[in-house]
Amino acid sequence: MPMTERFTGNFTQQEPLPQEAMQAAMHVLSHGRLHRYNVSPGETAETALLEQEFAAYTGAKYCLAVASGGYAMGCAMRAVGVKPGDKVLTNAFTLAPVPGSIASLGAVPVFVGVTEGLVIDLEDLQAKADQADFLMLSHMRGHLCDMDRLMQICDAAGITVIEDCAHTMGATWNGKQSGRFGAVGCYSTQTYKHLNSGEGGFLITDNPDIAARATMLSGSYMLYDRHLAAPEPQVFETIKYETPNVSGRMDNLRAAILRPQLKQLDQQIARWNERYAITEAGLRDTPGLTVISRDPQGIFVGSSIQFLLLDWRDAQIADLLARCAARGVELKWFGGAEPSGFTSRYDSWRYVSSDPMPQSDRVLRGIIDMRLPLTFSLEDCALIARIVKAEVSAVYQAG
Ligand SMILES: *Cc1c(COP(=O)(O)O)cnc(C)c1O
Repeated sequence: MPMTERFTGNFTQQEPLPQEAMQAAMHVLSHGRLHRYNVSPGETAETALLEQEFAAYTGAKYCLAVASGGYAMGCAMRAVGVKPGDKVLTNAFTLAPVPGSIASLGAVPVFVGVTEGLVIDLEDLQAKADQADFLMLSHMRGHLCDMDRLMQICDAAGITVIEDCAHTMGATWNGKQSGRFGAVGCYSTQTYKHLNSGEGGFLITDNPDIAARATMLSGSYMLYDRHLAAPEPQVFETIKYETPNVSGRMDNLRAAILRPQLKQLDQQIARWNERYAITEAGLRDTPGLTVISRDPQGIFVGSSIQFLLLDWRDAQIADLLARCAARGVELKWFGGAEPSGFTSRYDSWRYVSSDPMPQSDRVLRGIIDMRLPLTFSLEDCALIARIVKAEVSAVYQAG
């Protein structure tokens, strides 16, 4: 028997924050003005600077920093005019905060299926396009669909698109950043995403009315002239009277630790993609395992990796997960019948009713997911792939 290799790393361990972020945090802590609108004469708040820098990074006219990615999505939907009872199309393959943000407005999610490429099923979207005026598009796990075609479908049907870019910060389709196709792009800076402030998020848009409404919603009071990436004060003239305050601001401590990270984002993306490429290469040509093909028109961020175990029995998948776990490799199964950890299937969100989607169910039942934190070395990634490959082969051959 060959020696059994074991992985001893931690799938949920982030890197320490940059030294510059620690110093910036200490500076904010030392002056105590953590609230974004609390500035001394002549001072510009960290939050306003961060918004200006993120707008520049994405090429958007306007950017608003908020308390979380989920808040950004809810705020974006309110700002584009989603009302209680409205239907909002969204991905069947996504995470709980996405349908949750729709439900938070009293609106009604309508799920659209997923393909074997793990993107939204554009045929299903076309078929459901007459059911809603809005699409909350989740670029789940960084898989970008044919965005040109999606926008054609939505433009033709008069559907306003909001993009959930929690997993695509820094990713592009045909050279254009995700988050720049729809009316609004939403991002998360929660610990497991591409920038880490514990909790936090952004929304970006080129539309001044949407930006002004989002700013008022986020809890700007009448202090919106302290922003650097918000529309001109005139745009707020009537909006400031009509828009409720649904507080969800970012604070200066989070902004201070995000600014140095944003400067390093492109470097970090390159590091994630090296890890992804090695892991993917190690998983290829494994009988029973389907690697997800990536459209070359999209540049993704490989902060996690997925593969499919199509038509495996539940017991086989459970066996595989146990065998990999015993060797230190934590796989997540999106298709498990019971919600577990961060994963759940659309049919476990029982506050939403949905018609059956057999083709999507087949895909969802087989999706296996692994995070690839930057604390993993390239050797770690190769080792993880060897372990998964060996265990998939063993379980698959046993039948
Ligand atoms: C994390 C996440 C969100 C929400 O972000 P939070 O900042 O945790 O609210 C939205 N969509 C997806 C796909 C996510 O993974």
